[in-house]
Formats: sequence, C-alpha cells, structure tokens
Amino acid sequence: MSMEISEDIVIVGAGIAGLATALGLHRLGLRSLVLESSPCLRVTGAAFTTWTNAWQALDALGIGDSLRRQHPRLQGLVAMSIISGDPVAEIAFTAKGTSEQHEVRCLKRKVLLETLAKELPTGTIRFSSKVVSIEDSGSLKLLHLVDGSILKTKVLIGCDGVNSPVAKSLGFKKPSFVGRSTIRGYAVFEEKHGFEPKSMQFMGDGFRYGIIPCDDTSIYWFFAFSSSGQDKELEENPLKMKQFVLNNLGKVPNKIKNVIDTTKLDDLICSPLRSESVGDTIWRHK
Ligand SMILES: Cc1cc2nc3c(=O)[nH]c(=O)nc-3n(C[C@H](O)[C@H](O)[C@H](O)COP(=O)(O)OP(=O)(O)OC[C@H]3O[C@@H](n4cnc5c(N)ncnc54)[C@H](O)[C@@H]3O)c2cc1C
Repeated sequence: MSMEISEDIVIVGAGIAGLATALGLHRLGLRSLVLESSPCLRVTGAAFTTWTNAWQALDALGIGDSLRRQHPRLQGLVAMSIISGDPVAEIAFTAKGTSEQHEVRCLKRKVLLETLAKELPTGTIRFSSKVVSIEDSGSLKLLHLVDGSILKTKVLIGCDGVNSPVAKSLGFKKPSFVGRSTIRGYAVFEEKHGFEPKSMQFMGDGFRYGIIPCDDTSIYWFFAFSSSGQDKELEENPLKMKQFVLNNLGKVPNKIKNVIDTTKLDDLICSPLRSESVGDTIWRHK
C-alpha cells in the first residue's frame, strides 16, 4: 500500500536549478524537499562560463566567495579561425559604456553542485525518488513516485531538466532539438597547463569550439557541431567522441590538441542541444 506524506514545498530535480532554489528558500527560513531520480548527486559533466549575473546569484545564496577562491577570474576572450590558424579578435571583458570588467570565471559543475548540496540541511534531498506522474487534488498536488509512494504538497517547483514531468503536467511543449550537438570535456593536468586565464573560442568549417581554463591545472572545453541528434554510436562512445573532435580541430597549435588528448574518457559527455519555446518559459497559471 502506498503511503501519503504531506510537504509544504517540493522541488523536483537536484540539478543546479533545484539545489539553488532549495538553498534560496533555506536562506529565507523556508524548508523544502528536493526529489531526485538518481541514487546520488549527478556530478558528472564539465563546467560553465559564468558571468557577473551568475556571480551575483551565487553571492545571494552565500556561496560566491568560496567558489571564487577555486576559480580564478578570466581576463578576456580570444577568437581564432581554425581555417587560417590565426587569432581574429581579442576582447576584454569590459562592461559596455564603463571601464568596469565583467566578472567571468569557468565554474566546475561538480564543485558547484557539491557546494550547493553541502549548504542544505541534512535530509533536504531525497535520492532515488523519480516522480512518474502528477495529479491535482484540490489546491494540493499529488506526486506519484516510482516506488509507489505518494507525496502531497502545497507548492510544487519543477527543476527537472529538459524532459520535465512537471512542465508536461502544466501542458508545456517538449523542447525541440536545435540541429546541433555538443561534446563537452574536462581535462585535468598533473602540472600547470600553462594557458593564460582567457576564454579561447575557435570557429570555421561548421564547427565551433571553446577551450577555457577553470584554474591552473584544469580546462573545460566544448565542441559544437551540426548533427541529426540521432547518432547513438557517437553519443554513447567517448572514444569515438574524442576521435571526432581531434579529427575536426582544424589548423591549431599542438597544445590545443593536447588538451583534448589529456581528457580522460570518463570526462567526456555528448548532448544533443534542445531549446524550450520562448512562450513556454513565461510563467503560466493552471
Ligand atoms: C549530468 C549533466 C552534466 C552536464 N554537464 C554540463 C557541462 O559540463 N557544461 C554545461 O554547460 N552544461 C552541462 N549540463 C547542462 C546543465 O547542467 C543544464 O543545462 C543546466 O544546469 C540546467 O540545470 P537544471 O537544474 O535546470 O537541469 P538539470 O541539470 O538537467 O537537472 C535536472 C535534475 O532533475 C532530475 N530529474 C529529472 N526528471 C526527474 C523526475 N521525473 N523525478 C525526479 N528527478 C528528476 C535529473 O536527474 C537531474 O538531476 C549538464 C547536465 C547534466 C544533467
């Protein structure tokens, strides 16, 4: 027999959005329960280029400074052509119309998720708790979990990513594939990698990729390419991903190739890029 438990606020998904929302509520003195389908925190993935507004959000959550200590500031962006091998532009991160610099750092996904989770009161995240369906019950929502249990909640917050059952229950359209996929990697060097703290962006021949230092010994990179989004052989085989990237880097110095070579197969991930329709991201009542 299923058991019904009542909660005030339930957040579905312990990704960046779910944990940040739970921490924001906690800072305001509000308790929430985060339901996550996987058995532990999903700390795979690589990193994000995070700008001033993201750092303001992290400051509001009280974790900005500890993350800053682990991620040196990037000084600017260098764009290079992979056809000629030449730099085509160098841009400082100066805010428009001022002499102020944008705060840009390359934030490791694992560090961000673990920092958010560590700040939450014990028991906030309930793992292995996949929400399979959502039902209305007066002004409450009934959440049916994969293990047969049922949770009742006054407030339901969907932070459950691209295949969100919460968005589906609100009648949102499925996100559509944009015709491009991205391979992401995270390269860890035993000694200093020697790159300047600059975001390096490469383009040409239908490919666009970036190589961005997170700190002195680790580098995040992404490689975006046109695809059908159906190439399972590539998406599920890190060795193939690595080979594909190495074959399509174009005319670039060997130290760029070395970043891809240094990346361990476990630190590679390929995702078809999907986008939500703009109308659906606007708040709707139901
Ligand atoms: C494993 C992983 C690695 C990534 N790596 C990178 C990267 O290196 N660089 C980059 O730029 N972007 C990366 N991304 C994408 C980026 O993290 C997300 O686009 C962005 O953070 C959006 O965050 P989110 O919290 O909305 O969704 P997500 O990060 O997708 O989190 C959604 C969470 O909800 C959980 N969930 C989904 N359905 C249910 C359900 N029915 N019941 C309970 N829980 C559910 C999922 O398990 C997941 O933990 C990665 C995403 C993932 C999931």
